[in-house]
Amino acid sequence: MVDLLFLGTGGGRFNLVRQMRGTGGFLLLGKNATIHVDPGPGALLRLHAAGLDPQKTDALIVTHMHVDHVSDAGVLIEAMSDHMLSKGGVLLASRSVISGDRHGDKSISTYHQSRLEQCVTLAPGEKKEVRIAKAKSGRPDSFSITAVPVKHDDPTGFGFVLTLDGVRIGYTSDTEYLPAVHDKAFAGVDALIANNLKTADDHIPDHLNSGDLVKLLKSAKPKLCILSHMGMKLIVSGPELEAARIQSASGVPTYAGKDGYYYCTERCGWFDAAKEKKKAKEGKSRKDEGQKRLTL
Ligand SMILES: [Zn+2]
Ligand SMILES: [Zn+2]
Repeated sequence: MVDLLFLGTGGGRFNLVRQMRGTGGFLLLGKNATIHVDPGPGALLRLHAAGLDPQKTDALIVTHMHVDHVSDAGVLIEAMSDHMLSKGGVLLASRSVISGDRHGDKSISTYHQSRLEQCVTLAPGEKKEVRIAKAKSGRPDSFSITAVPVKHDDPTGFGFVLTLDGVRIGYTSDTEYLPAVHDKAFAGVDALIANNLKTADDHIPDHLNSGDLVKLLKSAKPKLCILSHMGMKLIVSGPELEAARIQSASGVPTYAGKDGYYYCTERCGWFDAAKEKKKAKEGKSRKDEGQKRLTL
């Protein structure tokens, strides 16, 4: 079972500044491991709002160097490394993020990188087995990840297919549709998270739009698709409506992701993270009270 928690389903430069939808990326919450993908602006605050402890994060994946995918990575490394007091956490990222782009700009400082347990550069097309030896849950875990090539402004960026607890999750990251690559790479995944910036009639180079996404879904046939990284126009015109259009044209169950909500692959439904956390806390305190009564 994996929960896919969305901290930010907004994309594009206009939404980035206005924050109509968040830009904190998403989390893969497995049985033992917590993986945060593309922690852009607001990731830390939205983690707290969802009732999660940033110090419980085990791994960060940063797919490329754009600010809407990486700005909160440094502060999350501070959380993972116990306030920089020890080494902690795994980072998987593009070469541009770890070593610098063509101008030499690094997205995560050497100082922060030095406090990681593991710092792994992932190249498009590469496959890695990642072991989380010191998982915050106390139970070590591992996952496999294959970096999927993209057509985007950062040539070292990647999407991925990641297998955690037996669930295969695909993520397009920011990219234009590459049929020869993406149809095969995302074939049959349990869930495909698509950074669908634009509607079908509103193209922009280097990004995905609904028309191309339908082609990808028809060919790759994932079990379900979740829209994220939606641009301002799509947000205003109605993400749920867009998801319904994509679903009826592709035949693939499609949802519009929502900030603060998670999709549970076992229960096949959506849940409000903060509300679920509150319920769990109340349940626990009721249980504690019961235990107290028994010991009196
Ligand atoms: Zn980008
Ligand atoms: Zn982006």
